[in-house]
Amino acid sequence: MKNQYTGKKILVLGLAKSGEAAARLLFRLGAIVTINDSKPYEENSQAQQLEQLGIKVICGHHPLELLEEGFEIVVKNPGIPYSNPIVRGALKKGISVVTEVELASAISAAEFVAITGSNGKTTTTTLIYEMLINSLRKPLIAGNIGTVACEVAEQATVQNVIVLEVSSFQLLGTEKFKPKVSVFLNLFDAHLDYHGTKEEYKNAKAKITVNQTIEDYLVYNADDKAVSKVAESSHATLIPFSTKRELTRGLDLKNGFINFNGQPLVQLDSVVLPGRHNLENILAAIGAALTMGAQVNQIEYVLKTFSGVEHRLQFVKEFQGRRFYNDSKATNILASQKALEAFKEPTILLAGGLDRGNEFDELAPSLTNVKALVTFGQTKEKLARVAKEAGVETILFADQMEEAVNLAFSQSRLDDVILLSPACASWDQYKTFEERGKRFVEAIERLTV
Ligand code: ADP
Repeated sequence: MKNQYTGKKILVLGLAKSGEAAARLLFRLGAIVTINDSKPYEENSQAQQLEQLGIKVICGHHPLELLEEGFEIVVKNPGIPYSNPIVRGALKKGISVVTEVELASAISAAEFVAITGSNGKTTTTTLIYEMLINSLRKPLIAGNIGTVACEVAEQATVQNVIVLEVSSFQLLGTEKFKPKVSVFLNLFDAHLDYHGTKEEYKNAKAKITVNQTIEDYLVYNADDKAVSKVAESSHATLIPFSTKRELTRGLDLKNGFINFNGQPLVQLDSVVLPGRHNLENILAAIGAALTMGAQVNQIEYVLKTFSGVEHRLQFVKEFQGRRFYNDSKATNILASQKALEAFKEPTILLAGGLDRGNEFDELAPSLTNVKALVTFGQTKEKLARVAKEAGVETILFADQMEEAVNLAFSQSRLDDVILLSPACASWDQYKTFEERGKRFVEAIERLTV
């Protein structure tokens, strides 16, 4: 591990899981740490514990005077927007404002494989990790499904490789982050409420390659225009992938094979994961894993055995000839489009959730197999309109998940697919998309006992 933080005055802004990890790490490294979190002290057990360690905590408000204390670095929780007065003030003063990923990259002895994109990050990250499991350098997984990046980086040695899922929020707060392999899956206008415009969102994602040089690699989706544009300006060695056309180099699909640089690598029918979008994730994962030394037989084994991450087009069960799928992680339109495209069977779609202010017209072409929509949450009227215009025969409204599942089942026949793929975030009705997915699975269990 490398340490450049001893004796530095650092403000950790916003706790949550990553803020706490960053604060503890910096404290261990000998930095002079102050924490500022909006949750009041009395309710803030995290802050209380950190205070017991000897870390200074300021809770319940964000006093601007803090900026007069001579901090050299602010470690910002990725969820805190740049419009936050302390963040704005710090930047004005020339204080470096970073996320915990930058800390991870600064201290890590291991190289990074970093994965970003609007959709498919967790799936691809997991695939790469599994493909590298028997390689010379032992992979460590970090990010959404794993441990916080800086904690993993603290443990890592040169014998490891850190496979890290990174969001645009995290990337925005990086400065010197330079992955050995970056994977850029796709770019869709998610999170526009935070980033403002698609251009800004693209720039945030582009930071995954901005410090890369020719000895590094960028695996990217050649079928995605915005992603290809970013690749054009990258200095890394490019590894494109396409599920739609033949490529002279990189990864593509031809004659029933997945090919690398024009050579057949593994048979396409080894793949058990459903959906074309997952083929994109698979090609991306293979590109990254091969680059880091994965063996082809391990790659093949993963393709034959990996049946998806929980809540991501996860097969739940079959009951009376109907198959239930939980795709609660589909929190935007693109994700639900892909999920719907994965099935040829008549589908009953359960969708709806938090209203981010967008319309759902882009979903219409993907509704051709949808015979019924059961919709809920803030966006139910919008989704109902689009479904009606797209010619979906039956549109039903539900308040709770159990009601939605029961309604969906009442509309189904033998061989139908019943799919939860909400196209919206869950926060209007649930704490997390995981909770929404769990409620779905529980409702299925009750229905099918
Ligand atoms: P992320 O971590 O980026 O949110 P996940 O792997 O958790 O991505 O998948 C989230 C949702 O996006 C899933 O519901 C899935 O149906 C959809 N999805 C996965 N991969 C892709 C892809 N390559 N393109 C579009 N949608 C995808």
